[in-house]
Amino acid sequence: MARPLSPVHGPYHRGMRLLLLGAPGSGKGTQATRLAAHFDVAHLSTGELLRDEVARATPLGEKVVSFMLSGELVPDELVEEVIHDRLLAAARAGGYVLDGFPRTVHQAEEAYKIAREAGATVHAVILLDAPDEVLTERLLSRAQGRSDDEPDTIRRRLEVYHAITTPLIDYYRDDRGVLVTVDASQSPDSVYAAILDELPQLVPPVGLEPTPGGF
Ligand code: ADP
Repeated sequence: MARPLSPVHGPYHRGMRLLLLGAPGSGKGTQATRLAAHFDVAHLSTGELLRDEVARATPLGEKVVSFMLSGELVPDELVEEVIHDRLLAAARAGGYVLDGFPRTVHQAEEAYKIAREAGATVHAVILLDAPDEVLTERLLSRAQGRSDDEPDTIRRRLEVYHAITTPLIDYYRDDRGVLVTVDASQSPDSVYAAILDELPQLVPPVGLEPTPGGF
């Protein structure tokens, strides 16, 4: 039986393409999971994909594990290796929610190239914005699970985010005009509702889309 379409789902049935940008602890994973289910598109998390390579002790996993454990970014070419084919396939299928990628300007350029190749560039970039104190508290309180949730590593991951990933905010706002900022210090339900509220302003409903790859 077809699942009922929400008012937001309806006009975008040809595929929603979103990118979530935000610091560690901003809730990218939680929101990306919900958005991907809502729009029925692939959820691509480079953190999850890399952790899976590490868990399976693949050659790629062995190359990335020390970067991840110390809170540093994995080198672009290794991240691109894990995401390239999956992003291309998702873009060809019409939709995706990217979570944790891109994280550098080089990766953003790469993501754009891959999506263009499929004629399916991103519709909207959602910046999940929260103060460092909120992020740190959240990361410390979930700290039993992931081995990169030690206090020193958390501090380093936030530093790396501010130094290397925040320039992407300007890239998407100024160069591509597709950025929307949501207050990520609210509850997960409120953040989700805020994202769905913002989307119609950035993503033209069916019939009014720009030409494919038009951004
Ligand atoms: P968080 O956003 O909480 O740091 P992720 O699961 O997105 O969690 O990432 C965990 C780790 O995986 C990062 O600290 C980094 O080492 C690596 N990583 C994930 N995505 C990327 C990326 N796009 N570029 C470089 N490293 C990445």
